[in-house]
Amino acid sequence: MTRLLYEVDPYLRTFDAEVCNVQGEWVALDRTAFFPGGGGQDADSGWISGLEVKSVRAQGEDVLHQVPGHRLAPGTRVECQIDWERRHDLMRGHTGEHLLFSILCKMHPEIELVKIAITPAKKSLIVKGELNWPLLAMAQTEANDAIAAQLPVSEVWASKDSEAVKEIRIKVERIHGDKVRIVRIGDIDRAACAGVHVQNTREIKMLLVTRLVSARPAGDFEIEFETGREAMGTAMRLSSIALQAADATGAQPDDLVGAIGNLSAEVRSRRELLKAYAKQALSRLEPEKVEGVRVYSGVFEGVDKKTLVDAVNGFVGEGRSAAVMASVDDRLMLVVATSKDLPVDCRLVLAEGLRLVGGKGGGGMNFASGGAADPSKAEVALSSALAALRSALK
Ligand SMILES: [Zn+2]
Repeated sequence: MTRLLYEVDPYLRTFDAEVCNVQGEWVALDRTAFFPGGGGQDADSGWISGLEVKSVRAQGEDVLHQVPGHRLAPGTRVECQIDWERRHDLMRGHTGEHLLFSILCKMHPEIELVKIAITPAKKSLIVKGELNWPLLAMAQTEANDAIAAQLPVSEVWASKDSEAVKEIRIKVERIHGDKVRIVRIGDIDRAACAGVHVQNTREIKMLLVTRLVSARPAGDFEIEFETGREAMGTAMRLSSIALQAADATGAQPDDLVGAIGNLSAEVRSRRELLKAYAKQALSRLEPEKVEGVRVYSGVFEGVDKKTLVDAVNGFVGEGRSAAVMASVDDRLMLVVATSKDLPVDCRLVLAEGLRLVGGKGGGGMNFASGGAADPSKAEVALSSALAALRSALK
């Protein structure tokens, strides 16, 4: 059985211990400050006798440390050190998660905690229940007030069926044994948790929500956040981006979200309008006569592929007709078609059109289509394809 030193003193960085058991790379000690992971918090890393501890896990009442390359035997005394910077970051993140979730719960009692991830790379919680940015912004402000208030964080053990346990945030089915460890943050939160926490909220320094996304299953949301200096750096970077975006849109920073919403609505409605005009122009397109063949051509903006292909098929439905059409949107699209009675290979005409603009495409004898990345080259592609068609018709 390993004595869990991190439960007594979460700030213990170095300690000595005795090896009690060895299973290959895995070493069990009589006592340890290495947290074996749990409740979403990553296991600690560090060093035993100067050798890197790659992983830590609990096995029954023992804590096992993975120490590749060790030559330790039971009875050996070892000097141990945990990677403190990494651990303190996880402690801040874990305590921050308690704060943020308990505040969100008070604002929105229907939400449920589904999953937590407290790792060096990512700190997040997944909750069931509708969330939005204004609500998160309020919760974030309250969490930072609690950090500024320097609230004490304490841990006490209680029996599973005691009165104290009835009033706390707990998932009873996740508690093994008869005892529950209650983590209390000032007077604002009490939760059952076996993880490692800071002892005062001031150590968190700052909590910043950095991402809100829908998670699976539908109705779940993932909230990512940062704490400490990392949060401060991100907050400064994002505020500068928001101010630059406000400048670029001509909006006041406080009106930026509304302004971007209006801009996207405007772009959508203009796209629809452009599409309607292009459809109208397509329906009124007059052919030129080349060697007795009706040739339809033009560049159209904002037309989707189906509309363009339908129009082209309509043009070449009657005999002795051909069409070379380009549409521009985010990309350039080129379509070449001929009526079945014309001995013209549309693939060759298309290839000629796309050759100068670095595009790709394919098709058959009477229909070929392709595209290129740069929509500003539409006229170049169209005129070289038309030239190829004219010489093929001669
Ligand atoms: Zn916890």
